[in-house]
Amino acid sequence: MATERTFSILKPDATRRNLTGAVNAVIEEAGLRIVAQRRIRMTKEQAEKFYEVHKERPFFGELVSFMTSGPVVVQVLEGENAVAKYREVMGATNPAQAAEGTIRKRFAESVGENTVHGSDSAENAKIEIAQFFKDSDIAA
Ligand code: UDP
Repeated sequence: MATERTFSILKPDATRRNLTGAVNAVIEEAGLRIVAQRRIRMTKEQAEKFYEVHKERPFFGELVSFMTSGPVVVQVLEGENAVAKYREVMGATNPAQAAEGTIRKRFAESVGENTVHGSDSAENAKIEIAQFFKDSDIAA
């Protein structure tokens, strides 16, 4: 498996509780390299576009309002099999169902406020990275 990249967000519940360093430590311990990182305030438009696939879901409004409720840290992670590896390190969407040792099991508060986002495919990773980073922002 070649080196690949995935897109990550440390969500507002992580920045609010000052957990960005703790989450990054788990990411790095898993062998993923943070090759780009920026702390931003997502606009409503950015959040709506980012989660467009979920726009018909009942939780969409709440999700957009949560993602714009505080700063987030957007990241590009690189490593062997990075997309699948990060999904494994994140744990299940619902922290109550997440495996021991995963980020969501350790830190997440609820299914909505679940600390991290990670791309679900290499194709989506490319699209998501391009929404927040230029090639020149990434230093591998
Ligand atoms: N979400 C939610 N309620 C739900 C399912 C999802 O608020 O019942 C939120 C949650 O923040 C989740 C995001 O919507 O991370 C995207 O959902 P998805 O199913 O894509 O989960 P993920 O890929 O983040 O594990």
